[in-house]
Amino acid sequence: MTAVRLQCCVPFCRRTRKNENPEYVEWICGDHWPLIDKPRRRVWGRIRGRWRRFGPPAAADAIARRLWACLKRQAIERTTGIAG
Ligand SMILES: [Zn+2]
Repeated sequence: MTAVRLQCCVPFCRRTRKNENPEYVEWICGDHWPLIDKPRRRVWGRIRGRWRRFGPPAAADAIARRLWACLKRQAIERTTGIAG
């Protein structure tokens, strides 16, 4: 297995992590994750937890992509101070 490291989605963030699951192509680090609204983080965690157990349903791909885009945008906005 190749040791590809994931880099945090937030621009200029230098944090990386070992990519142990090729399913994950993007990642938000522990510094930036707390900037996202708690309910959103909880929804994401619930979806991920269910998939780990039962596998993702076919329709979930699009939902997850959309939700991830939201999480990412919020983390970046909060970091750069563009919006509140
Ligand atoms: Zn980061």
